[in-house]
Amino acid sequence: MFRCALVAIAGAAAVLAAAPISPAAVAQEAAPRRVEIVYEEPKEAAHRPIYEAVRAARVLEHFQRAMAPFRLPRTLTAKIAGCEGEVNASYENGAITVCYEYLGYVAEVARSRRRPAWLTEKGAMMGPTLDVFFHEAGHALFEYLRIPVLGREEDAADLISALSLLHLGREDAEQLIGGVAFMYLDEAGVSPRTLNWPRLRLMRAATYADEHSTPLQRKYNLLCLAYGFDARRFAAAVETGVLPKARAEQCELEYQQALYAFDKLLAPHLDRALAVETYGADNPAVKAR
Ligand SMILES: [Zn+2]
Repeated sequence: MFRCALVAIAGAAAVLAAAPISPAAVAQEAAPRRVEIVYEEPKEAAHRPIYEAVRAARVLEHFQRAMAPFRLPRTLTAKIAGCEGEVNASYENGAITVCYEYLGYVAEVARSRRRPAWLTEKGAMMGPTLDVFFHEAGHALFEYLRIPVLGREEDAADLISALSLLHLGREDAEQLIGGVAFMYLDEAGVSPRTLNWPRLRLMRAATYADEHSTPLQRKYNLLCLAYGFDARRFAAAVETGVLPKARAEQCELEYQQALYAFDKLLAPHLDRALAVETYGADNPAVKAR
C-alpha cells in the first residue's frame, strides 16, 4: 500500500525541534517561485516509458506553475525518481519525491479493464499523478509555513490536494477527480458498479489503524469536496450512487469550511499578483472573501 506519512511526521518533528522563527522574519525571507523540479534519469529500463510520458505531459511543470504563487522561506524540490522497487511518494527535508514505481502503479490501474467507460485513460493517469504531488505539497506547506493542523495531517493533506485539483481551473477537473476516485475504489477492491452491493466485504481491521483514512473514506471525502465546489459539474457522483445523497447534502458546507481554512491559513502566503496571473482573478483560491 502507498504510504507517505512516516517521513512527513519526521519532518513535523524537525519543525517542532527547530528554534522558533518570528513570523516577521519568515515573511521577510519568503519569496514566490521557489519550487524546483527534477525528472531523474531512470536507472531501470522499465521506468523509461513513464519518464517519457510524464515529461511529455509536463507533469512537474504544471505542478511548479500551480505552486509558484506561494511565498516560501526556502526552495522546495519536486522530483520524480526511482525508489528501488518501492511503490511510494514522500515529503522529507525540502523534497517531494514521487517514485517511478508509484507512477507505474497508477498507469497500471489507469490501463486496466476495470476502468469505467466515462473515465479516460488520461484522466485516470493525470488525476492521481497531480493528486500525489499536491498531497505531498500539503505536508510541505504545513512545515514550511508552520501551518497548524487540527485533525489528522494525512486528511489535511488530502484536503489540500482536493482543493488544488478543483481550483486549477482545468476544464477536465471532473476527469482528474474521477481518476483519483477510481484509484481509491480500485485500492479498496471495488468498482463503481459493486460499491453499493450490500455484501461489500470489509477490509482488514488493521486498515482502520492506518494514519491515512481508508481508500473508500478518501474517495467519499474527495467527491464530497468536489460536489460542494460545484454540484452541477459533479452531479454524476450523486446520480450514480458513488456519493450517497445523505453525505452530499452537507458537502457545500464541507467545501466552504475547507475554503475558509485555506483563506485563513494559506492565502496570506500567496503572492497576490502572481496568484491572480496563475489562477485567474475569479478563482476561489484568490477571490477576497
Ligand atoms: Zn501523506
